Formats: sequence, C-alpha cells, structure tokens
Amino acid sequence: MRYKTHIVSSLTLGAGLSIILSYPFHIAYVIGISFGSLLPDIDEPKSFIGRRSFGIANYVKNRYGHRGVTHSIFAWILVSLISFIYLSPLTVGISLGYFFHLLGDFFSVRSIPVLAPFNTDYAKPPFAYKTGSLTEDILLYIFTFLLFYFVFILGQLHIYLVQSTAELIVSTVHILFELLHIINSL
Ligand SMILES: [Zn+2]
Repeated sequence: MRYKTHIVSSLTLGAGLSIILSYPFHIAYVIGISFGSLLPDIDEPKSFIGRRSFGIANYVKNRYGHRGVTHSIFAWILVSLISFIYLSPLTVGISLGYFFHLLGDFFSVRSIPVLAPFNTDYAKPPFAYKTGSLTEDILLYIFTFLLFYFVFILGQLHIYLVQSTAELIVSTVHILFELLHIINSL
C-alpha cells in the first residue's frame, strides 16, 4: 500500500471508530493517526517516512529488512505501550494508525509477518490486492469517499475538528507570546 492509501484508509477507519465510540475527532487524533499510519514503513528508506527519517530507515532496514518486525503485532504493542505512557488523543491516534497500517499491508499480496520476530512466516490473507495496482487505486477512491461521508455527513466530525484546530492555534500563539514575554524580560 502506498502512503496516501495508508493515510486515507487509516483516517477513514479512525473516523468510523470516532462515530461508533463517540470518541472526539480532535485534530491531535487526526495527526496521530496520520503519523501512526506511516510509521511502520520506517523500515524502508525509499518510503514517504523513510525519506524523512534522517537515516533511521537505513539502519532499520539493514538490521530487520523491509516488512519485517516493524510490521508485526509485537511492534504495534510496543509502540502502543510507549505511546500510552502519556495517554492523549495524539497517542491514541498513533496506536490506531499503526494498527491500521498493518491491517492494510496484511491484505496485500506480500502480506506481513504477523508474529515476527518469533515466527517470521508471512500471513496468507483470504483475499489480497497488489500494491500500486488498479485495485489499490479503486480502494483509495472508496476510502476517500467514505472519509468525506463519515466526517461531513454521518458523524458531522468536522465541527469538532475545526474547533479543536482553532484551540490548538490559539494555545500555540499563546505559548509563543509567553515565550516572547520571557525573552523580553531577560
Ligand atoms: Zn508497510
């Protein structure tokens, strides 16, 4: 799955969960899901996140290979445990996004080694799409449509999203002013 499909499909599933569980569709949750949905590909220097990883991707790929241990259920548990040290919409989003990435790759032809590093066999999903194929394009269109439907129509999630974004901007500006004040009084 390409990075756009990962982000959009993860946001769609995240929006669906938000509606079902009445979990607030906070801007930090959206950012967390987007980041988490790219994170497992930190094992590939040519991936979207790998190209921006300051060499970390090279290290991970050399050591573990692409679609190795970062694409396992144990990596997801580890990322979630680290995230939940500070429980927030951001960290819940990261954990969910990571999980949705694994789900997306699970259903690709190559699939993922679900139980790595203990069992490095790749799963055999009941049906699979080919990465970069027309099927993936169609999936991207369907997820994009569903995302808009969930956010703007079914869940009206955009209202809280806009509100939380405004709050984030206001508090960031506030912190910047506080910092300026401190610097000026030195
Ligand atoms: Zn992947």
